[in-house]
Amino acid sequence: MPEDDELLVRVRACGVCRTDLHVIEGDLPVHRPGVTPGHEVVGVVEGFGAAVRDFTVGERVGVAWLRRTDGDCVYCRRRSENLCPASLYTGWDADGGYAEYTTVPAAFAHRLPGELDDIALAPMLCAGIIGYRALRRALLPPGGRLGLYGFGGSAHLCAQVAIAEGATVHVMTRGAAARRLALELGAASARGAYDVPPEPLDSAILFAPVGDLVPVALRALDRGGVLAIAGIHLSDTPPLHYESDLFYEKELRSVTANTREDAREFLALAARHGVHATTHAYPLSQAGQALTDLKAGRFDGAAVLVNDLS
Ligand SMILES: [Zn+2]
Ligand SMILES: [Zn+2]
Repeated sequence: MPEDDELLVRVRACGVCRTDLHVIEGDLPVHRPGVTPGHEVVGVVEGFGAAVRDFTVGERVGVAWLRRTDGDCVYCRRRSENLCPASLYTGWDADGGYAEYTTVPAAFAHRLPGELDDIALAPMLCAGIIGYRALRRALLPPGGRLGLYGFGGSAHLCAQVAIAEGATVHVMTRGAAARRLALELGAASARGAYDVPPEPLDSAILFAPVGDLVPVALRALDRGGVLAIAGIHLSDTPPLHYESDLFYEKELRSVTANTREDAREFLALAARHGVHATTHAYPLSQAGQALTDLKAGRFDGAAVLVNDLS
């Protein structure tokens, strides 16, 4: 049941994110034993706690990764709520959307643009928002050259925003299907994961959770370039060589979750630029298969679970 300030949401669709795999496989510490994963939920408000004012039953809402913050610490007060030490996460600290029903604090529920259907919207709620924050963290100059390492759910949405804003996008990824999708979406080139892009990069984003790619991406940067690491988990990086990997003021930055402001900005941009997710629907009862296929890289774009139980 929802708490006083929470909504009860009937799940219609829930995206499958790599973080769900990290939670299940123990790459991330256990926050709640046996937690139900899922933090890309599109659903309908079924009810709410006594303190909720501004939602109505039947309204469509999105439930994302960032679930709660204290609103009050030094990070929250400087608009970096993604760094709040007291933050809680959907599908990690509280049961998420791989279920018929879930709950969300009303202040952290997202209103969704009307023109997109449930399945198309689901991957936007983590993959899309995180890709957007990573793009902003990568400080791509106007009309700049952007390299994307890995091309799954998050990268393929990020690429569409970058291209719509005038960037030249080069994709380095292992899967042939993902490389094809990249070119279809307007990438200027698509090569293997460890290949050198056809021109030096102003900015790069590492989406693959592979630390070995950090020096590869740093060496692909032009002078003054920025590499942002988008994932919540990364395998260990090999030693970096100062001269080839970091000198000439190259920058290495991480990306930690997102703020609600990132979500609002991204959802508005996605609607304006017609950003669309390439999706593969699975019935909710086949969540395990969707995760297995994600791990094996068996689909391009993003998997979405559709509630076939209620
Ligand atoms: Zn805080
Ligand atoms: Zn996620």
